[in-house]
Amino acid sequence: MASFPHTAVTAIREPEDRAQPVLSLRHISHRFDDLLAVDDVSLDVLPGEVVCLLGPSGCGKSTLLRLAAGLEVLQSGEVELGGRVVAAPGRPQVPPEKRNLGLMFQDSALFPHLKVLDNVMFGLSGLAPAERRRRALAMLGKLGLATHADSYPHLLSGGQQQRVALARALAPAPGLMLLDEPFSALDARLREQTRDDTLHVLKNSGAGTLMVTHDPEEAMFMADRIALMRDGRIVQLGTPYELYCHPVEPFVARFFGEVNEVVTQVQDGHITCAFGSVPAPGFEEGSEVRVLIRPEAVSVRLVGETHPHQRSHVVVSRLLGRTSLLHLCVHGEQGEEFHGHSRMPGVFLPPPDQPVALELDPSQVFIYPAS
Ligand code: ATP
Repeated sequence: MASFPHTAVTAIREPEDRAQPVLSLRHISHRFDDLLAVDDVSLDVLPGEVVCLLGPSGCGKSTLLRLAAGLEVLQSGEVELGGRVVAAPGRPQVPPEKRNLGLMFQDSALFPHLKVLDNVMFGLSGLAPAERRRRALAMLGKLGLATHADSYPHLLSGGQQQRVALARALAPAPGLMLLDEPFSALDARLREQTRDDTLHVLKNSGAGTLMVTHDPEEAMFMADRIALMRDGRIVQLGTPYELYCHPVEPFVARFFGEVNEVVTQVQDGHITCAFGSVPAPGFEEGSEVRVLIRPEAVSVRLVGETHPHQRSHVVVSRLLGRTSLLHLCVHGEQGEEFHGHSRMPGVFLPPPDQPVALELDPSQVFIYPAS
């Protein structure tokens, strides 16, 4: 839910499938001395689309964003913005202020000596003063900040300061917005609200957006598509659904949350482990596989000690809000013991030592070659 009542939020625009990209990164590589920080990355952002660069610390997200912005000198590859090549080896690089883009960073970087309105007007050079003022006020209105136009930035909350930074970046109506961890300095409650507000305003602006985050939940909230990176490369590029439900390798599945892991063999076209049994299509009979099981795939049923499927018991149950997390002691085929997790909807808090039977939802179980 947007936190500001003044914004005229119409239908959220979907990215225009066949439109020309507002940003094309082609075969970008970048070194810092011996370190290959970005390794042959290609990526398009369409008008109206939000693309998130996601990945662990140091995987090259910010470097890629800075190359798109022109804040870093391109070494290899090509950057095209709005159909115009702005950086390629052997030709002068177009500076950031001539790229028709808006920038927003973790620190709002507002001018402390300028009032909010003047901060936003600063981004609107080349217009008559009255027109700059009109546009800046309109943008502040869209972000629910009109009443703060005459305040100085230090009188605003962190979330409001970030919205002013967004207003300043969006006021010149750029074709592309580049956001680097824009919410990470905010506390959890303010972060949720500010990113919700930001998403609505970005979608209504029609600009394409490339945003850096290390938070998978934030990427899923914001993105039409996510580019998950590791060691300077894109491991998987797709919709949040594709990455969460069809991870191409264990790294992707693990990045979106803790998983139960088992190494086992395929028998009769299935994998069978202490959590249950699911089909393993496409794997050779007898081949060794690594099975990643999301906790929400493990459904728990309370049973008696003597139930034929009882091979596990509850160690401890914790309410996490919308879900309950059950720490389980699971017994393997040979009676070996290991620990696993189940995530059940709502309040479901069986006591310690409660015997349980487990069942697997195959759609949240991912099977990969063990090697
Ligand atoms: P984080 O989320 O921690 O910001 P990131 O994914 O954005 O990480 P980058 O900031 O792009 O990663 O850095 C990629 C790698 O390049 C890291 O190993 C980093 O230490 C290194 N690096 C980044 N900038 C420079 C620089 N100016 N000089 C030397 N090394 C750098």
